[in-house]
Amino acid sequence: MTATIISGKQVSEEIRGSIAGEVKELAAKGVVPGLAVVLVGEDPASHVYVRNKEKACHDLGYYSEVHRLPADTSQADLLALVDKLNHQDSIDGILVQLPLPKHIDEKAVINAIAVDKDVDGFHPVNVGNLVIGDDSLLPCTPAGVIELIKRAGISLSGKHAVVIGRSNIVGKPVSLLLQRENATVTMCHSRTANMAEIARQADVLVVAIGRANFIDASYVKPGAVVIDVGMNRLENGKLAGDVDFESVKEVSGPITPVPGGVGPMTITMLMQNTLTAAKRHHGLA
Ligand code: NAP
Repeated sequence: MTATIISGKQVSEEIRGSIAGEVKELAAKGVVPGLAVVLVGEDPASHVYVRNKEKACHDLGYYSEVHRLPADTSQADLLALVDKLNHQDSIDGILVQLPLPKHIDEKAVINAIAVDKDVDGFHPVNVGNLVIGDDSLLPCTPAGVIELIKRAGISLSGKHAVVIGRSNIVGKPVSLLLQRENATVTMCHSRTANMAEIARQADVLVVAIGRANFIDASYVKPGAVVIDVGMNRLENGKLAGDVDFESVKEVSGPITPVPGGVGPMTITMLMQNTLTAAKRHHGLA
């Protein structure tokens, strides 16, 4: 039996619809959410991501600024720009596109972003608040994963969730958010022994490893929910997830495709975070 497809595109459109409604209400109060994106260098994938963010801002009626800086920009100049944006009233959210060129210390730049404008949710204070369960700006892709699961009508409470991948930007925060939803969480990584056996115990399997089509049906319990965070560019130019969609969908329960699954949710959650930051900035949340 072929599984139900969880469409991140459709869920994204729903959320953007409600964001657009809130933007109208804010506009009536003279508030326009503002996002600044900073891009250093010529990485082609980063340029595509930044263009998509710019377009999302435009479509939703946000104010946006994109600062495209040359690859040899000094760390001091980048920090000076971040400091200026921290103090700029029209800007509610700041996103510095990663990766940065090697001569720049990414941690120093992330730590320099004002905590309440950190719409990527990467600042250590926001990460710490996530760990202790306090209110914070959540990292976009992990927040998108949880939103997709919830809006597909899947309850996480009491379920066994297995997360494959333990990166700071996806695996670790996803595991914390799943625990917040009362799932029982097991983390797997490159040193995990018997990974297929563990994965087969999952009611909900979240995969973020960066290996095209790595997870096949042997990792999946019949009927399990499968969320594929992977985005891998194949030699033929096509995008592939970390999950072998064609074989897994024959055994799994609801499953996200690539493209059209988690991907569209990331920018939508960035827009949501910017809206939240704007409301807080203006004392409306
Ligand atoms: P990352 O920083 O490279 O981390 C990969 C993680 O996977 C590491 O924890 C690594 O384990 C683990 N891993 C690698 N190979 C493994 C294997 N064979 N078995 C088990 N674990 C393995 O990657 P990331 O930034 O988390 O990204 C993961 C994927 O998600 C990539 O395809 C990326 O493009 C995609 N992504 C998508 C979005 C989106 O918007 N949809 C956003 C971010 C990332 P160790 O810790 O032991 O090395």
